[in-house]
Amino acid sequence: MRILLSNDDGYFAPGLAALAEGLASCGEITVVAPERDRSGASNSLTLDRPLQLARAHNGFLYVNGTPTDCVHMAVTGLLDFEPDIVVSGINNGSNMGDDTLYSGTVAAATEGYLLGIPAIAISLVSHEFVHYETAARVARELVERVARSPFGGPVLLNVNVPDVPYDAIAGFEVTRLGRRHKAQPVVPGKNPRGETVYWVGPAGGAREAGPGTDFHALERGVVSITPLQVDLTHAGQIPLVTQWMAS
Ligand code: MN
Repeated sequence: MRILLSNDDGYFAPGLAALAEGLASCGEITVVAPERDRSGASNSLTLDRPLQLARAHNGFLYVNGTPTDCVHMAVTGLLDFEPDIVVSGINNGSNMGDDTLYSGTVAAATEGYLLGIPAIAISLVSHEFVHYETAARVARELVERVARSPFGGPVLLNVNVPDVPYDAIAGFEVTRLGRRHKAQPVVPGKNPRGETVYWVGPAGGAREAGPGTDFHALERGVVSITPLQVDLTHAGQIPLVTQWMAS
């Protein structure tokens, strides 16, 4: 298998190294990742300047762009082959519910998916980030499963893994995204010049977290696997808006 790895935490992130190590036995690994932490970059492409590519000592390629740039560049010209799968992560922190809209980790996988390649985003649900090897093993099992029984078309899996030893995982569950409460307010502060600055506040807690959701799985120490799609059309509101336009 030819595997393209990326992330949003940057090419130097420990989660990316753990992922590359965990997937080494699955095939040929190519890493193209952002040169700095681009968490929260979502599906952004850099269109106002050229992108540059460099190679780190460990062979990882890095780009002065977004996670989406990395996968886009790799697949549409940089590599002389089409990867069999794109894997993004292992992210420092969860990507559940509404996080998936902001996430650069999910965005890197989404770019693979949009370009017709099966893709997996994998995140470690924690603030301490201890058991990368657990998430790496989960990634390996999923990639091996894709190799064994391919989906026959592009698929985008959003995977969240509890930060516990592998043997302490309580199972695997295919889920839907939950929803978060509204984000916390921005946090004002003073910069050294005495000017007021603002930090974007933390995401809200889980609001819709009932059985079947990603939040519910993680709450129970279960690995959550959510198949994602990209169509944002609110099909259920087409009649409402049609009626509204006719009124
Ligand atoms: Mn991140």
